[in-house]
Amino acid sequence: MGFSVRGYEKGSDVGGTWYWNRYPGCRLDTESFTYAYFFLNDIVPDWSWSERFAGQEELLRYVRAAADKMDVRKNIQFSTGVVGATYDDARNVWTVQLDDGSAATCTYLVTAVGLLSATRLPEFEGMGAFNGVSFHTSRWPADPDGGVGGARFSYEGKRVGVIGTGATGVQLIPEIAKTAQELFVFQRSPNWCTPLRNSPLSKEEMEEIRGTRKALLAHVKTTPFGFIYSPVDRDGVQDAPEDREAFLEKLYSTPGYGIWLGNYRDIITCRETNDFVSKFVARKIRQRVKDPTVAEKLIPKHPFGSKRIPMETNYYEAYNRKNVHLVDVKEDAIERVTPTGLKTGSAHYDLDMIIYATGFVGVTGAIERIDFKGKQGVRLADVWDVGPVTYLGLQVSGFPNLFTLAGPHNGATFCNVGVCGNLQVEWLCEMLDYLRKRKLNFVEANEDAQEKWTAEIYADFEKTLLTASDDAWWVKVKRHPDGRVTRRALTYIGGGPTYRKICDEIAQSGYPGFKLARM
Ligand code: NAP
Repeated sequence: MGFSVRGYEKGSDVGGTWYWNRYPGCRLDTESFTYAYFFLNDIVPDWSWSERFAGQEELLRYVRAAADKMDVRKNIQFSTGVVGATYDDARNVWTVQLDDGSAATCTYLVTAVGLLSATRLPEFEGMGAFNGVSFHTSRWPADPDGGVGGARFSYEGKRVGVIGTGATGVQLIPEIAKTAQELFVFQRSPNWCTPLRNSPLSKEEMEEIRGTRKALLAHVKTTPFGFIYSPVDRDGVQDAPEDREAFLEKLYSTPGYGIWLGNYRDIITCRETNDFVSKFVARKIRQRVKDPTVAEKLIPKHPFGSKRIPMETNYYEAYNRKNVHLVDVKEDAIERVTPTGLKTGSAHYDLDMIIYATGFVGVTGAIERIDFKGKQGVRLADVWDVGPVTYLGLQVSGFPNLFTLAGPHNGATFCNVGVCGNLQVEWLCEMLDYLRKRKLNFVEANEDAQEKWTAEIYADFEKTLLTASDDAWWVKVKRHPDGRVTRRALTYIGGGPTYRKICDEIAQSGYPGFKLARM
């Protein structure tokens, strides 16, 4: 577009999620051919995916190939963290502070920091004194030979503890189970997990996909979350129990997210439909896990889909192995880390490795770890203390010219980020072009537009069963000094098509809700 642009990246190369997360078993649970953003631009048109759900190494190679073709590395300063950014009211300029002590200035500042990148580590006593190896899953050591995966880092024959059973733990556990001497899974809350059913993609299948790519893109733009799935046009309660059972059986045996995103349209709003689905999946868990006590511990209490559904490959079967042990830390809490392992209330577990699959401070975490100061030095972290306020999930009043891609309350966040993130970038580019053509250089969300947008986000969220899981990464929980606890939704749940329609209408009407000016 002719703008001068500079990217700052903490990693030593491109890749983001796929650069940082190299734990064994790490792979997509979105169909490979609908995921990557550059797929929209035909940037790597001859790329062939080897599997329906690609693994981390292949994804990272893909991102690198795209970066090569676009020749964007020259615009990015790698191995550089952004620690703060301050808006200068008088000059209409952002100054960005970098972790090497230097600074850069710009007119427009865009965060693309990821919604699941701010690692969350527990604060157990003794963590620093562990004599074995321990790390968060997104800091898995790189392969010694410089390969793009980290899977070869050895846990073979070792006594390994994994803390956490979210989507990451669920991918990691069956892999570690294969060769570890003993694997102890420290589970606080189980999740509803359903089979990924990955398979290789043949040359012929890939050719077919290539041929239908445009139609595929047109299709995923119409689905609520940018996946190939849409809910069926029926409520679960309308179907007879035997028809529901047959429908769910079909979804359970189909690859991917159909069972969550292609289920009954009232799955996340109607308790009765949700109960039926939850009971169906609970029966599957009981069938797959041999020890009935372990099976019961693996069955969640929250409604199906009110937290992210991890897609699994032999996850439940891992618990049938003699070397895998489930430790329920709700019953027997972790008290501390010792030099030789983990101490719970009633036992000590001797370990060579402790792997923290404890997740991320979702959506706002990575933004809030940068000290943004807007007009009159107001801090973004203070404005968002209880929960984020935004307009379109893209801007915050008081922080002109700052845009948050895939940030809180925008339609790319609860979506196939590959597809929805790209569409959001296109929208932003159009806005910057609009400003430039009119010789403007200032854009700021109006307070009233922000208030209305934020209120609608919270009200829509309240209408769903998503509120039943206030520990999901898409909820910000704040415990106040007076004992009050507030919970604020971090995601827009109206679906991609509605979000983009709203954004497009705003663009076509000259950006109502934003103050545009020349400074
Ligand atoms: P997560 O879903 O937030 O899970 C973190 C796990 O750690 C939970 O089981 C949590 O228990 C547990 N935990 C946290 N603190 C703990 C503590 N102090 N003691 C014991 N347990 C503790 O994080 P994640 O598994 O990394 O996944 C995050 C998101 O990343 C996913 O929801 C998904 O969106 C994305 N992801 C995607 C893929 C994929 O697409 N293929 C793969 C992995 C991750 P509680 O539930 O009790 O808090």
